[in-house]
Order: sequence, then structure tokens, then C-alpha cells
Amino acid sequence: MYDLIIVGAGPAGLTAAIYARRADKSVLVLDKGTFGGQMTFSPKIENYPGYAQISGNELAEKLVSQAIELGAEIDMCEVTGVHKEGSFFCVSSDEGEFMASSVILATGAKHRLLGIEREEDFVGNGISFCAVCDGAFYAGKTVAVIGGGNSALQEAIMLSDGCEKVYVVQNLDFLTGEEKLAEILRKRTNVEIIYGSTVEEIHGAEVFGGIIIKNTASGEKTRLDLDGMFVAIGQVPENEQYKNVVTLSDRGYIVSDENCATETEGLFVAGDCRTKNIRQIATACGDGAVAALAACRYLDN
Ligand SMILES: Cc1cc2nc3c(=O)[nH]c(=O)nc-3n(C[C@H](O)[C@H](O)[C@H](O)COP(=O)(O)OP(=O)(O)OC[C@H]3O[C@@H](n4cnc5c(N)ncnc54)[C@H](O)[C@@H]3O)c2cc1C
Repeated sequence: MYDLIIVGAGPAGLTAAIYARRADKSVLVLDKGTFGGQMTFSPKIENYPGYAQISGNELAEKLVSQAIELGAEIDMCEVTGVHKEGSFFCVSSDEGEFMASSVILATGAKHRLLGIEREEDFVGNGISFCAVCDGAFYAGKTVAVIGGGNSALQEAIMLSDGCEKVYVVQNLDFLTGEEKLAEILRKRTNVEIIYGSTVEEIHGAEVFGGIIIKNTASGEKTRLDLDGMFVAIGQVPENEQYKNVVTLSDRGYIVSDENCATETEGLFVAGDCRTKNIRQIATACGDGAVAALAACRYLDN
């Protein structure tokens, strides 16, 4: 039995753990993947206050160590559901059930797929979502980055350091990421940005061979021979299993108030998994602090 169980060890969940431990609450943090969450995919973070530049892995390590040193327990398991039993919460997972007086959901979001045939067959074998993890496999090779937002531009910049050629395929006629990143990319001679085009299909039977793209205005199809493709078209939340205790928005994010409280007393939400405008490490940490302090107030009453 814990005072607080936190689902998700990203910046939101880990910040919540730090705040709750400093308030002397017993805390268990559960995560099914990498401790640190999405930021572990980021080679360079330049907008987290206090660090002019830090890698996502380094920042994750600092947060995890701080939470553990303060006495938070962190376990790896996949949470499959949460329900309330009287005034307690039962958190179900692939490792069994855990009980707590309060819960914070800090489950973040995951990468969105293109929705084309055979895409999932090639994930990890030609299709990647993370240049920092897989970029080195494509040194001297030709890749495409799909998307035009900040993540796509960051991925393309990193890949262009080692790849022979990087295509950036964007469905719109303009890039939606920061101009500073777009400017860096436009100066790279091994980068070609293809606007107004969608990915139609993958070519290659056993081995990923590239993609067919279609110009949305003319309908013209072009074959790009590639060694790899990095999909960076945003994220989707994974909150379906909590809809018995929270309300989900039409896009699947958890609805909460400004105190990160949900409609279920004692159940709070923090970070990218909730309805909000800005999804960043700094805002996830802010949510973690707010949710933990709200949970502490709930526990003390
Ligand atoms: C490539 C990339 C680069 C980025 N660069 C920046 C940047 O430079 N600056 C910036 O501010 N932001 C950046 N971001 C965004 C930032 O990483 C996110 O906004 C932030 O990580 C959100 O934190 P979070 O704690 O809400 O969620 P997440 O980081 O997504 O963490 C959620 C955690 O919950 C776990 N989880 C989910 N479901 C379950 C379950 N059922 N059971 C157990 N565990 C579960 C996941 O495994 C994950 O570890 C970047 C993101 C990416 C992908």
C-alpha cells in the first residue's frame, strides 16, 4: 500500500515523485519502457531551463537519480488499468496489482504511424522513430524523414550529419517546425525537402527498399529508393484503459482542471497525456509539481 502510485517515469511522473517524496509520501513509480520517457529520444535539449544544452538521456538520468535518492521506488511494468475500491485505488499491471491512496497518470504519448500497408512489419527494420537511437545504422546511406514539425526537423538535422542523403517529406507546402531549425536544414547540401507530398506505399519485399510518394496537388507519384525511413508526424496518447475513471477528449487525452485533478477524487494527471496546448519537458515538469502537490493536499485531508 502506497500513498501515491505514479504511472509513467517521464519528466512529469519523475517530477511528481520528487515533490511527493519531499512531502514524505510513500511513492511507487511504474513504467513499461525507458525511465525518462520521450526525452530519451532527444540528442540535444536546448530549452530546458538551467541547461544551455543537455542530452535527453543525461537529463533523464539526473531526474531518475534525484527521485530514487529521495526514496521513490521505481519499477518496470505495464499498467493495464486503474479502478477505485472504496477510498483506495487498485492499479493493475502485467506484474500484478498495487494499491495506493492516490494515483497520478503521467503516461505521455507515443509515436503516430503513417497508416500505410506493411508499415508495422518494417518497424525496427527500415522504419524508425528515433535518429539518436538508430541514426548510426544509416551512416553514409540514404534516408527520408517524414514530417515537418520540430521533431522531424531535429531528426533530419541529426541524420544529415552522418547520412549521404536525407529527404524530408512534408504533406503541407510549408514546414511547421521552428524557423531556426528549418534554416539549419535548408543550408545542408545533402538535404532535400519535398513539400506537398504524402507517403503512399513502401517498396521492397523482405527488405525495406524505400517509398512511393504522391504529390497532393498533381497526383504525380515518385519512387524514393531509401535505406531507412524516420517517421516524425506527432504522437498519440495511450489512455484507453483509464476511461472508467477519467474523461478522454476526442483525441484521447485525459481531461483535467488547472490543478491536474480529474473527476475521480484522488486521481490526478500530469504531462503530455492530458489536454493542454504546450507539450514540452518544462510543461511536463510543471504539471508533475502541480499534480503531486494536489495529491499531497488530498492525502492530508
Ligand atoms: C525526439 C523528441 C525530441 C524532443 N525534444 C524536446 C525538446 O528539445 N524540448 C522539450 O521541451 N521537449 C522535447 N520533446 C517533448 C518532450 O520529451 C515531452 O513533452 C515530454 O517527455 C513529456 O513528458 P511526460 O512525462 O508527460 O511523458 P513521456 O515523456 O511520454 O513519458 C511517459 C512515460 O509513461 C510510460 N507509460 C505510458 N503508458 C504506460 C503504461 N500503461 N504502463 C506503464 N508506463 C506507461 C511511457 O513508457 C513513458 O516512459 C521531445 C520529444 C521527442 C519524441
